[in-house]
Amino acid sequence: MKPAPFAYVKARSLDQALHVLSKNSSGARVLAGGQSLIATLNMRLDAPQLLVDINAIGGLDKIERNDGWIEIGALVRQAAAIRSPLIAQHAPLLARALPHIGHPAIRNRGTIGGSIAFADPAAELPACLLALGGEVEITGTNGNRSVKADDFFKGLFETALGPDEVLTAVRVPASTPDMRCGFAELCRRHGDYAMVGLAACTRLTEGQLHDLRLVFFGVGATPVRARQAEATIAGGTADPARIAAAVAALIHDLDPPDDIQAAGKLRRHLAGVLLKRVVSELLEPTP
Ligand code: FAD
Repeated sequence: MKPAPFAYVKARSLDQALHVLSKNSSGARVLAGGQSLIATLNMRLDAPQLLVDINAIGGLDKIERNDGWIEIGALVRQAAAIRSPLIAQHAPLLARALPHIGHPAIRNRGTIGGSIAFADPAAELPACLLALGGEVEITGTNGNRSVKADDFFKGLFETALGPDEVLTAVRVPASTPDMRCGFAELCRRHGDYAMVGLAACTRLTEGQLHDLRLVFFGVGATPVRARQAEATIAGGTADPARIAAAVAALIHDLDPPDDIQAAGKLRRHLAGVLLKRVVSELLEPTP
């Protein structure tokens, strides 16, 4: 199918993009890598009157380390993030998750900001951002604001971003020697969106897991923190009995829907399988 007709503006600066968006707030969409947006338009799931292309805006494609954070500009391509030594060294959870996004051609165009702004509930990066306790930088005509990942994902493809705002960067805490991350997902073919996935982050001290964040994706309208499972394991040694209790606690944390890929009951079972794998990974000594 072809998209409905739309106008197109290639913004040369953030100010210009914000100005155009504020004049067309409900009928405009930001165009980044286009890997989700263009498919949505082609299927006529959305029909905006105007696309505001942000690809020519300078300064949104940097990856930097500042004050204990790794800041990733919205226009950093997923493929560039995979090649980044800063991400490999200081954001190992992202380094683990990024190669699971689609295929190389998609990652060559798809951006970090686009993935977070699109907020597909089965996507890897939103879950990782939440597991890491990251933040999203947003700019609008009224200025900048930071939103914690905990407050950013509101519902199915719904975020804290306003229609006339641009996501300019995401920030995650740079890893520390006691930080451990784990990641696993199950999909029918490599490159498909996950049926179920889990991104996890914790601090490991003397065999105990502290500040544990277990975030499942592909199980609901948003990435879902499994708070009861976290509480079952956190602050203690993750022995097999505790891990089994955490798996049992998923009945309270997750209520995955049935869809054409899998029944909700199967997804919850698979979530338990991933929980066991990922918690074991968190306990492994660093190489
Ligand atoms: P776009 O498609 O340009 O935009 C997506 C949405 O976000 C639009 O609504 C747009 O207005 C908004 N947006 C984008 N950037 C900004 C910004 N800076 N500020 C405000 N709003 C913004 N993704 C996965 O996570 N896992 C997968 O396994 C996966 N598989 C895929 C398989 C295929 C075949 C395809 C086509 C895509 C797949 N994707 C997958 C999606 C891919 O990761 C997209 O790149 C990503 O979801 C969107 O990034 P983008 O830069 O292409 O954004």
